[in-house]
Amino acid sequence: MRWPMLDTLRRITQKLNEATDLDQALALVVRDVKERLAVDACSAYLVDASETSFVLVATDGFDPRAVGSVRFARGEGLVGLVVERQCPISLSNAQAHPRFRHLPEFGEQAHHAFLGVPITHLRRRLGALVVRQLNDRAFGHDEEAFMMAIAAELAGLAYVSATRGALVAGVRERALPAMLRGIKGAPGIGIGICVLPPAAADFDAVPDRWVEDGDAEARAFQHAVAAVRAELRASGDRMAAGMLTEDHAMFGVYIELLDDDELFADTLERIRAGAAAASALRRTIAEHARAFEEMADPYLRARAEDLRGLGRRVLLRLQSGSTQARVYPQRCVLVGEEVSIARIADVPVGQLAGIVCARGSPYSHAAILARTLGIPAVMGLGSVPLDQLGGCSLLVDGVHGCVYIDPAPDLVQEFERIAKQQFESARALRELRELPAQTPDGARVALHANAGLPSDLAIALDSGAEGIGLFRTEFSFMVRDSFPSEDEQYQVYREVLESFAPRPVTMRTLDVGGDKGLPYFQMQEDNAFLGWRGIRLTLDNPGIFLTQLRALLRANAGIDNLKILLPMISSTREVNAVRELLTRAIAECETAGQPTGAVVLGAMIEVPSAIYQMVELSKRVDFFSIGTNDLTQYLLAVDRSNARVARHFDSLHPAVLRAIDCAVRGARDAKRPISVCGEMAGNPAAAILLMGLGVEVLSMAAASIPQVKRALRSFGLQQAQSLAARALAAEDPSDVHRLLDQAFEDVGLEGVSTASATPH
Ligand code: PEP
Ligand code: MG
Repeated sequence: MRWPMLDTLRRITQKLNEATDLDQALALVVRDVKERLAVDACSAYLVDASETSFVLVATDGFDPRAVGSVRFARGEGLVGLVVERQCPISLSNAQAHPRFRHLPEFGEQAHHAFLGVPITHLRRRLGALVVRQLNDRAFGHDEEAFMMAIAAELAGLAYVSATRGALVAGVRERALPAMLRGIKGAPGIGIGICVLPPAAADFDAVPDRWVEDGDAEARAFQHAVAAVRAELRASGDRMAAGMLTEDHAMFGVYIELLDDDELFADTLERIRAGAAAASALRRTIAEHARAFEEMADPYLRARAEDLRGLGRRVLLRLQSGSTQARVYPQRCVLVGEEVSIARIADVPVGQLAGIVCARGSPYSHAAILARTLGIPAVMGLGSVPLDQLGGCSLLVDGVHGCVYIDPAPDLVQEFERIAKQQFESARALRELRELPAQTPDGARVALHANAGLPSDLAIALDSGAEGIGLFRTEFSFMVRDSFPSEDEQYQVYREVLESFAPRPVTMRTLDVGGDKGLPYFQMQEDNAFLGWRGIRLTLDNPGIFLTQLRALLRANAGIDNLKILLPMISSTREVNAVRELLTRAIAECETAGQPTGAVVLGAMIEVPSAIYQMVELSKRVDFFSIGTNDLTQYLLAVDRSNARVARHFDSLHPAVLRAIDCAVRGARDAKRPISVCGEMAGNPAAAILLMGLGVEVLSMAAASIPQVKRALRSFGLQQAQSLAARALAAEDPSDVHRLLDQAFEDVGLEGVSTASATPH
């Protein structure tokens, strides 16, 4: 590209970044491109809300009345051709082309030269940018490249608007979009009022404010400091036993800072001078943090960040006033960049109608929990101005991955009709509840439920599950403000074990890290899924781990239906270390006179290295459970929470199937039972394959059990084995999908088989 063109490109890009809306950006692009390429007209076309045609949305050089009126159906005209082919089309004599369409009604003179480039974002066809010239003219490569670069810039902006449904005239006047498109997170349809996360404690958003009642402000500030101090002491004390010294030191530093008279005095002085508590705190923190930053010692310099972190905690307390429970609308939809497990658990059972996340994928833990609870969820909406949704009525269509904003009554009616139909078919499936998950040729597969919160226990019990195949203990850690004590954990575990006895309950030890954070435990990492996760974190914090092990062992006393499952096992060393801690935990319980139950220990097979150590691991554990969510993530190198790569996440990929096959064979040779507890198990099509591969226990969201049971009752074991053999030999994931779709159609279950391995 010639340098002057690069300069223009840079200038336009900069202006685009500064544009406040899509209209402004489009106007700017068509003007500048027309000028730079010295053409007669430059126009932009974008897909309309129905996604059936492309509408002229901006032009320079063409009748402005044509904007919003000229439209090309998909595949129609040269514009349609550009979109269809997804590559630049350059013609020196456009009129001679069979797809040429002339628009004399808008005074268009038949032009000769045409150059059109597609506007595409993440493979989504959003429109085209075209230039026209009355004379014959051949466009060069540099001009084509220039147009492509501009179209790519425009695509990002257009995508944001497209997902807000505000692309074309007629829809534009709406302040808010009609529909947002995301990724299916959990099936179902729900309607409720949007509830956004509580405002984050953000010092940048705190203005300088003055108040009359300085005493009240001072009291509020002192209360906030006292509350944070108590919170830190409690967390610090509880964790002291097992924390690494430097982690515990962090609590110490915070508490020391809070006790710092000067810090306290400075803020109070400002408040007494008339400043609002938050404003006073902001100024004090900024001043002290700056002082730390100017110090020569790197350790002391780093304390500036501690100070800010501490300041945010106090600010949060100040802003939330007290710890009053949040009041939720009767039917509400939780919306956020991410929706934490804690937020989901905070909504009273029965009031949660849906979950909507700008980030994430079906394998994010918010989506997994939504499925477990039977709540519709849509993930990965992308860059959407969520704050504009506050208070809107939202219709969450988890079946198609769409969210409708303030839906019209007829749309609501239509969805209510569909929801009723789904309810009816779910009821019909419930009739299978008492029937065994048995194939027509007599093979049995045990269907277990996944759970993690008290609210999903009832659903699991009701589903006809033959046990709990995965209890994610971390969920009850994630919904709290601090680490649960041993007794608090004991209560939870005991309740779960008792309610399912004598059926088996597999409880996984704390698996935090990755997309599962604890609000009271620092673990920010660049590559969290490859970092301090699961067993690595608990082995590094033996105090936390021992507390949990004791609670589990005690809860099992006299019931003996507990199996302990270890997450993220990648080497035998880890299991050895766990065995040592288990021995210690049992001894500690004995010393305290607390009875314990039997120990049955298992390892998750979710880190690929574990598959190559089945023999060695079998000597150390009693059973295995395959976590297909992480196994797929690590095997295919696809971040399970990243919406951009969600389409690459496929547990039916032949490589994943071969890995599972290898693990199942290894377990069989070592005479150790093996189950699958990842989301794949809840997909009826995948369940058939897993049975064919020799898996005898499948654990899934309780809501998926009836569909999986119906599929199992429709396929013979031999048929499943032959499908598995063909799937293992497949060259591409699409072959596996086709194979399963056909097989399901053949047994009269078309529409049940799923295009991806997420449960439906
Ligand atoms: C898995 O990885 O498949 C699994 C069951 O565990 P989680 O989804 O909680 O990581
Ligand atoms: Mg996992």
